[in-house]
Amino acid sequence: MDYRIRQREYLLAISRALTSELDLGDVLRIIVQASVEFISGRAGAIVLADPIDHTFRIAAIYGLPREHFERYVPLLQGLPYEEGSENEAIPELTWRMQKVAQAAEIGVAQVLRLPMMSGETLIGMIYVFQAGNYHISSDAAGLLQSFADQAAIAVKNARLYQEVIAEKQRLDAILEQSADGIMILGPQLEITRFNPALSRMTGWDAAGAVGRPHEELIRWQKLRTDQDLETALANGWPLPGAVHLYVEGELLRRDNKLISLGITYAPLLNHRGVMTSIIANVRDLTRYREEEALQKTFISIVSHELKTPVSIIKGYAGTLRRRDAHWSADVQDEYLAVIEEEADNLADLIDNLLEASRLQSGTFKLELNDEVDLPKLAAETVRKFSSQTDRHNFVLDFPPDYPMALGDERRLTQVFNNLVSNAIKYSPDGGQIVIRGEVHANYVTVSVQDQGIGIPAHQHHKIFEKFSRLDNALSRNTDGTGLGLFLTKAIVEAHGGSIWFHSNERPTNGNPPGTTFTFSLPRENRS
Ligand code: ATP
Ligand code: MG
Repeated sequence: MDYRIRQREYLLAISRALTSELDLGDVLRIIVQASVEFISGRAGAIVLADPIDHTFRIAAIYGLPREHFERYVPLLQGLPYEEGSENEAIPELTWRMQKVAQAAEIGVAQVLRLPMMSGETLIGMIYVFQAGNYHISSDAAGLLQSFADQAAIAVKNARLYQEVIAEKQRLDAILEQSADGIMILGPQLEITRFNPALSRMTGWDAAGAVGRPHEELIRWQKLRTDQDLETALANGWPLPGAVHLYVEGELLRRDNKLISLGITYAPLLNHRGVMTSIIANVRDLTRYREEEALQKTFISIVSHELKTPVSIIKGYAGTLRRRDAHWSADVQDEYLAVIEEEADNLADLIDNLLEASRLQSGTFKLELNDEVDLPKLAAETVRKFSSQTDRHNFVLDFPPDYPMALGDERRLTQVFNNLVSNAIKYSPDGGQIVIRGEVHANYVTVSVQDQGIGIPAHQHHKIFEKFSRLDNALSRNTDGTGLGLFLTKAIVEAHGGSIWFHSNERPTNGNPPGTTFTFSLPRENRS
């Protein structure tokens, strides 16, 4: 009677431990204690097989003194096991356990062991140490084995749980690290997950977003697709066979700025076809839209820039061909010179466009093996441009020991042309243009200083971007594609140098300060 009550109590305690949220170590300790007490043993231990290297490690002990732990642990590991030999006193085992008992300072006569099986695999073992040689009834043995089975279940559950946790951590990491925005909506379209990428796009942090209704955060200002999520749902989305919904447009961020987004909504349906949640994948289309706008700018600028020289050439050529007029040799010469100059402009423009597209496609190559005389290039550039203006005077200021630079002469000529033509173009009232060279320990610099209209601070960041022209009356009235500085920067950087600019000190006469562009090139290493 007493036996049956105890039996029930132990089983109850174990099943309670199994269903409670104790960690595996605590559950195993309860099981080993029950096993020991049930047969009035002295002590017990549970060892578990490592799923990877299959060696046995202690997972729980009862009645064994902790302070001698390291003495008996090695004896418990790596014991041979044969199927069908459980519940038997095995000489090898008993011998070893005598030593364990000695080490642990408990008197022991007999050791029982109970295998913990998961299907066909042995995942662990319960050892029970007894002080005398008692016979264990088959009833009691059966019950002990059921303790071992419970322990096996506990281990299996714990491992499954750990796998689930690991899987969840992996999914969380994907969600957190994804460069695309991801959010998960509940059945009422409330936001349940909101990842950092989406926070960056929308300006809402996860804590502020979670729990809010979808429509409160996803405020479309302009839709490019027919419908948004709410309208689509009202129209019966998702239809059976659950298809994705794509919504694209401009969205108001939390700070009321606009951002171009595309959102793909994927419904999750349960087995009855009821939608339980929606996973939304959000992509920032701003760059794509900018690229599109750039293409448009490109076409309008280029067609304008191509049209001007072509119509001049056509006009002059047509005039020269008129049969009713006779042109003096001087006039013919002058007209032909204009045609030639405009043809050169066209060629330059086409060159620039080709370079820009080579830069974009990554096939931009430099021949860095010319010995380039920068002061000479500067002088040639000045000679070329001074015939085009009588408002500007040029000053060349290079020290006599200015070293040769190793580079691509044709490309560096382009750099000079761009900087000097800008200095002229953007100082319409004329003034001085100084081209100065400086020698430093590891690099040389060349600067081009003008007394022109200057570059306002808020536009500094745009200046080297392709097709960017500052929005002032002058840019609108002067020719240019906005490619000059973009290419200049690329060329200088391909030489291992860099380019920058600053506004000059404001002169006392109230004139605008003008701008100085400076580029550096690494000095040749002649050692
Ligand atoms: P391109 O050189 O292709 O014919 P661009 O001169 O307009 O055209 P960039 O040389 O790239 O293009 O210059 C970009 C813009 O920077 C110019 O449109 C102008 O607004 C501004 N800028 C460049 N240099 C100066 C300068 N020295 N002073 C004032 N503004 C300048
Ligand atoms: Mg230019």
